[in-house]
This record gives sequence, C-alpha cells and structure tokens, in this order.
Amino acid sequence: MPPIPSLSKPPAAHLPSNPVIQYTPANLLKWGVQRAAAFCKANKLPEMKVYEIQPKDWSFDVCAYWRQSTCYICLKHCGRPAGDTDTRNWSWPGAVTDRTPYGVVCHELGHHVDWHCSPPETRGPYHGMLCQQIIEASGEKAVSGYSPNPAEWFAEMMRVFITNHALLHAVRPRTWGLLADRWEPVSDDCWLTALGPGVPQRIIDTQLKR
Ligand SMILES: [Zn+2]
Repeated sequence: MPPIPSLSKPPAAHLPSNPVIQYTPANLLKWGVQRAAAFCKANKLPEMKVYEIQPKDWSFDVCAYWRQSTCYICLKHCGRPAGDTDTRNWSWPGAVTDRTPYGVVCHELGHHVDWHCSPPETRGPYHGMLCQQIIEASGEKAVSGYSPNPAEWFAEMMRVFITNHALLHAVRPRTWGLLADRWEPVSDDCWLTALGPGVPQRIIDTQLKR
C-alpha cells in the first residue's frame, strides 16, 4: 500500500462553496453544471454537455446516465437534500452520500473523466481502463453504497473528489492521492465549508464514519 498523502495541493480554482440560496432541484442542477464545467476547465478536459429530460420522456429507473460526452438527467428521479428530522435520507450536496442533482451530475462527470482519460482501445460505452487501474492501485472500499463494478466505484470516488475533495482526503486518502496526482481539485480545502450553509448536524456527524 502506498503511504497516505497529505492534503497539500491547493485547489486550482476557488469556487464559492455553495452559490445557491435555495436547494431546489433546478438550482442543484445548475450548480452541478457549473461545477462540472469548472472542473473540466481547470483540468483541460473536454466539455461535458448536460441535458435535462422531462419525466414523460424518461423510461429508466436510474436518475441519469452518460454517453458520448453527454449527461442525461431526470430531476424527478434524483434525491433531495436531507433535513434535520429525516431518518433514512443521508443525501446532501457535497457529502459522501449525494443523490441530489448536484451530486448526480458530478458522478456522471466521473464517467466522462474515466472515458476521456483511458486509452481509446480500452473504452466501452461509458467507461475505460482507468477505473480498473485506480481501483486496483487504491485497495480502498467504495465510498458509497453504489458500487456494482469498477466504473461505478470510480464515478462515486470522482463525485466526492469533484464536489468535496477534502472530504475524500479524510475518508479515502489513498484514492484521493491517486486522483490528486492526475487532476486538480476545485472544491474548498475544508470539507465542512464545502458542504455549504444549512447542512444538518446529523449529516456532519456521519461524514467521517464511512
Ligand atoms: Zn454511474
């Protein structure tokens, strides 16, 4: 196992941790699109297009998918930020669990990065060889409950790296080191600040227990 790296790399671009005032689905989508664009720009990656599809035109159980540099998302199928009194919802923008449109767009950007940064001959429809290399080099368990294969393991790690790299450093330091060797983070260096205003205490209390 490689040694645990220190959080020494400053973010390439300091973005406001949370530019939205209200956590509506539309605002969370807009924030996700802004964050994805900032990450691609800071890392000289091809742009990812994001298309919102209306529920009547959406025939999938999943809330989003990525194909050919495009993220397709249906807000009705995404999660909402947890409240103080929720019992089963642990989702929060920038948290370890984040099924809000913000986190969903950044998860799809994880597939975008994997595909574009993998050798062309290793690419499938939505993943490449890179996710396999990183999961093997990391040896760390998935950051969230959603990790049926290396492509999804990687997309979930990238989601946290893109939305809250300091939190990924705290909970999966070896994976953070492998990602920070390749890409510049754009989130705040304090994971609590990156969670933005209004985050419930019950969400804060569980972040480092993953
Ligand atoms: Zn995915």
